[in-house]
Amino acid sequence: MEMDRSGALLEVEGLHVRYKTKSAEVYALNGLDLRVERGEKLGLVGETGAGKTTLALSILRLLPERVGEITAGSIRYEGEQLLEQSEAYMLGLRGRRISMIFQDPMTSLNPIKTVGEQILEVLDLHFPGLSKAEKLGRVARMLETVGIPASRGGDFPYQFSGGMKQRIVIAMALIGEPELLLADEPTTALDVTIQAQILEMMSRLREEYGTAVILITHDLGVVAEFCDRVAVVYGGRIVEQGSVEQVFARGMNHPYTEGLLGCIPELDSRAERLTPIPGQMADPTVQPKGCSFAERCGRCMEICRTRQPEPFESEGHSIMCHLYGPGEV
Ligand code: SF4
Repeated sequence: MEMDRSGALLEVEGLHVRYKTKSAEVYALNGLDLRVERGEKLGLVGETGAGKTTLALSILRLLPERVGEITAGSIRYEGEQLLEQSEAYMLGLRGRRISMIFQDPMTSLNPIKTVGEQILEVLDLHFPGLSKAEKLGRVARMLETVGIPASRGGDFPYQFSGGMKQRIVIAMALIGEPELLLADEPTTALDVTIQAQILEMMSRLREEYGTAVILITHDLGVVAEFCDRVAVVYGGRIVEQGSVEQVFARGMNHPYTEGLLGCIPELDSRAERLTPIPGQMADPTVQPKGCSFAERCGRCMEICRTRQPEPFESEGHSIMCHLYGPGEV
């Protein structure tokens, strides 16, 4: 079915990213396609090293200099090609139209400035026309919105718990009223109760500001609770994407997603094995001729080793696997 392609907030097409070190070249993204609608909550899931964070850094053009390189593809944001924009343009975009939250809040917080000053700096950068009083008012309101009394704006990061620090980072990320929030494992370091509170708060803020969220995680439980749609990353590509209902229905899934969902039949009979999917991620310094999951896949066929599968899509549910073709998804 042909999708309506008008009005997407973000469209990533055929993205290839390579990291070059002295000893090796790592193929981190290998033709990744992704589309995010306005106001959508998308879960980006996969194991460590699958390419999730690389995608977020590519969108913001923050790949490590001289090491990470986008070698092909396109990233359109509100129809504009980000890969052709100047650094000055990107500076205006980061924190204003697209914000990012990292797993460790101290990556974003300066330990020697008060949290209020740090939130204010974002406004100074992106809203220079506002009066000081208006900016201070916005900072106070945003602190209250994320559940921190405005009176604590004069405190330093070390005076807050881990969960509170992450709330401050979220306040910094949202004060510019971005249309897109990239949240990279934002709750992984937090305990389960705080995690639930932060997700609940992000959901509420999304309702309030209409911000689209890409939630990067390895936790499908979090995706089921928080997201509208899910994209599964493996070997630097999206191997399956669809609505949370489509993917979690377990009717038709990519074998890798089946593994993440814990429904590979062989595993049931070897309960002592805790690794959800047997085997290691494919060697990222080698570009496989066929499917990158072939070495770990219990259903691998001859064709899988020689030809890369193309995505097959039906009603917005897409699977990149030779098992599926017309009439099967
Ligand atoms: Fe498994 Fe082949 Fe599908 Fe890859 S293409 S996931 S190896 S069945």
